[in-house]
Amino acid sequence: MARVVLNCPTMCNVKGCPNKSVAKGLCAKHYMRARRSGDPNKVRKRGPASKRPAGVSARTWTRFKHASNMIQAMGYSLEEFERMMNEVKRRNGSYNVSRLLRLAQYALEYLQQPVLITPPPPKD
Ligand SMILES: [Zn+2]
Repeated sequence: MARVVLNCPTMCNVKGCPNKSVAKGLCAKHYMRARRSGDPNKVRKRGPASKRPAGVSARTWTRFKHASNMIQAMGYSLEEFERMMNEVKRRNGSYNVSRLLRLAQYALEYLQQPVLITPPPPKD
């Protein structure tokens, strides 16, 4: 009688790992680790810690960075940037990032306007 081999996925060989194996008896995570370093338990070094202040959402932080990058790219000085930040500061001390973005957008649109060269008045 032929043995019926069921094509059911086996579990990852790493002790305590609850995932199904995808290759060489390892789950996707541990297989990738093994491929990278030869050791399925070796984890990569952590990336640099986020500078995002506590209480600031990831979305707001992304939008703030976008606005400050725009302002920086336009060549504003740190002093001018601080002035803009002061402009968007709320009474409770928090910053209105939407306003900062609008300010940056406005400055960019202003910079992108075509320069109109007015000819000097004719001398008579
Ligand atoms: Zn695993």
